[in-house]
Amino acid sequence: MDRKVRVRFAPSPTGPLHMGGVRTALYNYLFAKKHNGDFLLRIEDTDQTRLVPGAEEFIVESLKWCGLVPDEGHGFGGDFGPYKQSERKEQDIYRKYAEQLIETGHAYYAFDTPEELDQMRENLKAAGVAAPQYNHITRTTMKNSISLSSEEVEKRLANGDPYVIRIRIPRNEEIKFKDMIRGWVMVQSTNLDDKVLYKSDGMPTYHLANIVDDYLMNISHVIRGEEWLPSAPLHVLLYQVLGWEDKMPQFAHLPLILKPDGNGKLSKRDGDRLGFPVFPIEWKDPETGEISSGYREKGYFPEAFVNILAFLGWNPGTSQELFSMEELIETFTIERVGKAGAKYDPDKARWFNQQY
Ligand code: GLU
Repeated sequence: MDRKVRVRFAPSPTGPLHMGGVRTALYNYLFAKKHNGDFLLRIEDTDQTRLVPGAEEFIVESLKWCGLVPDEGHGFGGDFGPYKQSERKEQDIYRKYAEQLIETGHAYYAFDTPEELDQMRENLKAAGVAAPQYNHITRTTMKNSISLSSEEVEKRLANGDPYVIRIRIPRNEEIKFKDMIRGWVMVQSTNLDDKVLYKSDGMPTYHLANIVDDYLMNISHVIRGEEWLPSAPLHVLLYQVLGWEDKMPQFAHLPLILKPDGNGKLSKRDGDRLGFPVFPIEWKDPETGEISSGYREKGYFPEAFVNILAFLGWNPGTSQELFSMEELIETFTIERVGKAGAKYDPDKARWFNQQY
């Protein structure tokens, strides 16, 4: 490895950690330790409307219980804790990069109101566009903020009109990168939206904050769930237009965790029914008001749980069935993580637990 390995687990505190999340954390941790690298925890809490009280502490406690202790951080209450994007935003870390993109023509101010956006979508649908986008195609079929002159933009800014900052997706460019699990991924820029980078509430969006932090924290490998694969081309493009190509991390998108019969994604609810080991703090589901009171009742041991997770998508290539954390660190490689969804097997999970 010619670059110091630095990885991060970057959950959004929108609820308790589920199995997929902890597995992502574990694979990041194993990869970092195997390469004498650093494992960081970064709480991505820029979407203030989706924050769930207690979720952040739940995440921190859950990782600790599994033995996944971050190597660095910056914390709440003066303690060593995770990096938090809401705290970093206060230091104005993100804004300047959005402005840099405006200056270089890769982003623009957009003043469309929610009603105007709805109207645009409807017009496009009426014109037979199945999946309306906000990008250069939309620009040519209707007037949206992208067609404002610089004088008009100045006037509206001076007026104090609410705005967002959007990326200007280039026309007809091929965006490609090599995923460590999936191989080459190629996307035509025409299929991407001019996504919002900076919101009208003064917060950066996930996309901007995520890549700015990855860059500033010198992240060498982004290992995360497959649900983020569609966002990766935009992230690659952002690295390019910000002039950070030499610092572009390598991406590895982990396979989904499936229900035992292979039929669809394992949900939190399935997990509970199947004996999903929850973690050692009391958790109140904000939707149902239901209280889950910890792993002790379900009787899972951390060592067993770590093994259950390790085998969800990875195979060691040997017949060894139980691993200590040290052995996992030694044996783990991304090359042995599969592309296909990994089925969660509750019997196997119980078997692991009986070994401790
Ligand atoms: N904040 C995202 C999440 O909640 C992180 C995605 C990533 O790792 O880039 O999963």
